[in-house]
This record gives sequence, structure tokens and C-alpha cells, in this order.
Amino acid sequence: MRVYFDNNATTPTDPRISEIMSEIMTTQFGNPASTSHAWGWQAEELVNIANENIAGLLGCDPNSFIFTSGATESINLALLGLRGLKPKRICFSTIEHKAVLDVALELEKLGFEAVKINVDQQGLLDLEQLKSELQKPTAIFSLIAANNEIGTIQDLKKISEICKECHTFLHLDITQLLGKENFKLSDYSVDLASFSGHKIYGPKGVGALYASQRIRDELLPIIFGGGHQRGLRSGTLNVPGIVGLGKACEILTKEGSEVIRHISKLTKIAAEGLQTSVSKISINGSQKHRIAGNLNLRVPGLNASTLLSKLSNEIALSSSSACLSQTGSNSHVLEAIGLNKAERNSSFRISIGRFNTEEETVWAVNKISKEIFSLIK
Ligand code: PLP
Repeated sequence: MRVYFDNNATTPTDPRISEIMSEIMTTQFGNPASTSHAWGWQAEELVNIANENIAGLLGCDPNSFIFTSGATESINLALLGLRGLKPKRICFSTIEHKAVLDVALELEKLGFEAVKINVDQQGLLDLEQLKSELQKPTAIFSLIAANNEIGTIQDLKKISEICKECHTFLHLDITQLLGKENFKLSDYSVDLASFSGHKIYGPKGVGALYASQRIRDELLPIIFGGGHQRGLRSGTLNVPGIVGLGKACEILTKEGSEVIRHISKLTKIAAEGLQTSVSKISINGSQKHRIAGNLNLRVPGLNASTLLSKLSNEIALSSSSACLSQTGSNSHVLEAIGLNKAERNSSFRISIGRFNTEEETVWAVNKISKEIFSLIK
């Protein structure tokens, strides 16, 4: 048996989505910017339907999206796109995805003050520090709504209220929240939100930025060219990808609650199974405020990277986020929640998705437990 337990890095594409995409690539291949013939109109209609599907999931106006190559680009557009705003000040949490951290460095080069807001041991944002920092006029606050490594979900209600009161625009990175928690933009005051197709059983290389009407006029492009997407992101639209993203959202609208139930059940089986067989194991991050499917685990004395490599052909696990494992960097998220080097090195992540089964989970837990024992004995 082989088990893919790295669904926070990427998910398998739902066959219903890849089928539609494949058909579109060969039969409905028009360019939506071709306004002079039916092929172009048909492609435009496909994009309109995708907009409706995404808006249906997120509870917002279908005209609110700018399609991108994924959440990294959406985040770049959201934050660098506001480089013209004053006051030149941005706040963000210490557990943001690298895309936010690196864009903040770029904004600093453009004269912005970049301020980090701390989190506690569970990964929950320090709301008092946020309130206090936002007393100073701040253009934007960027927040990872659900963390990719430890899974902590932030108190979005309170945070969006604080930003509104302080007249600070709020950008949410909802890449990991979608599909793992029922979430509607209409429940909060959010100006910008970034997300990606490949984390929700859709294709890679496509994502979108939600931009509320009030912020759209403030956004500046970061990619220039033919003036597509109201001049905010030039380049021919990736119609099959956009349709795939739309379909992924449509499926989540219909099946999301069942998917969350399934993933939560498997997560419980995995957590209880590992806790029973490995008594010293503990969960990093919040026990209560966490997305379904995410288990960031720590075993004192374990060399997590040895565990990962021992299991690498049979079980896909991760030591941190996919991006960090590529650069070999240490996890800034585990550091931010107060773990020392030894604790960080003994931590690994399991992320369960909708296509995992109970049988796989039980098998993988057994295999992981045995491997841990052989490594720490
Ligand atoms: N934000 C979060 C929270 C993520 O987990 C990821 C992916 O790892 C990204 C942003 C970047 O997404 P993409 O791979 O679509 O660029």
C-alpha cells in the first residue's frame, strides 16, 4: 500500500475536474479576449460560469476575481498591488506563508514599514498587539486564515472587526482554509483574499485573488501587457485551469460539509492511533482551532527528517511546508509558536485529504508508529 498524506502541499485532482478540463482543451479552446467570433464568446462564457461557481462557494459577487497562476501570485498582486497606498505600512503575522514574508521585504524596499504580529503557542494571533499596532495608521494587514503547517485557524470575526475599526484593509490567505472549513467571505469584512486550485482538488497553476469593490480601484498590476482582467493581470486567461478552479469550488459547495466530516473522521483515527501507540507524541498548534486533516506532530528524541526519508516511498509526509522543504529552510512557523530547535527537528506533518480512506489511515498509522519506535528506541 502507498499513502499520500501530504494534502496541504497539494491535492490529487478530482477526476471529474480533469475530465472537464481535458475536454475544454481540445474542443472549447477559444481565447476569451477574441470578441469577434463564437469560439471566443464560448470561452468567455466558460470563465463567467467559473466566476459564478467560485462566488457561490465564497458568498460574494462573481465580478470580484482576478485569475492568477496560484496563491503565490495572488498574494503578490494583493500586497505589491497596494504599493501606491498611503500610509506606507503593512502588518502581518509571524506565521505567514513565505509569499507574504518575501513580498513584505519587497515592500520595505519601496519604503514601507513592515511590522510582524506575534502568535501564541497555539499559533493564534495576539489580538492586543494587533489592536495596538493598528492604532498607527496602516494600509494593510495580511493574515494566513488557516496555517499550512500547524493548521491553526484564526479568529476571523474579531480580526476583521479590528481592521475595519482601524481603517486598515484586510488581506486573507485562505489557501488552506478552503475545503477544510465552511467559510463565506460575506460573514466578514474582507478586502482581499488569495487562494489556489491545487489545494482543493483542482489543477495546479491557477488561483485567484478576490478583491472587494472598494479596493479594486486601489490595486496596481504587477504583470503588464494586453490589459486583460481590467488591466490588473495581463495575459491570456488559462481557461481550462479557471474552469477547473470553478468546478473545484462547485464541488465543494455541494460536498464540502461531507468532505470535512470525512477528513475529520480520518484525522481523529490518525491522532488517536498515534497517541495510543506512541505515548510521547504531542500535537503542535491549537487542538481546538484547527483545520480538518492537519496534524503537526512532535515526538521527543525523533529525527523527523529520518522518519520522512525512511517512509518516503510508501507514505508522503512532510516536515514543514512544501516550499520550505524545497529550500531546506527551518520552519519559521514552529519557531514562532515557541518550539526550540530540537523540538522543531522532531516535528512532522500529516495532512489528510478527501481521497484518503480509513483503511489507508489505519495502515499508515501502524507503519508510522513502528518506524518511530525503531528510530527512538
Ligand atoms: N498560502 C498558503 C497558506 C499555502 O499553503 C500555499 C501553498 O503552499 C500558498 C500560499 C502558495 O500557493 P501556490 O502553490 O498556489 O502558489
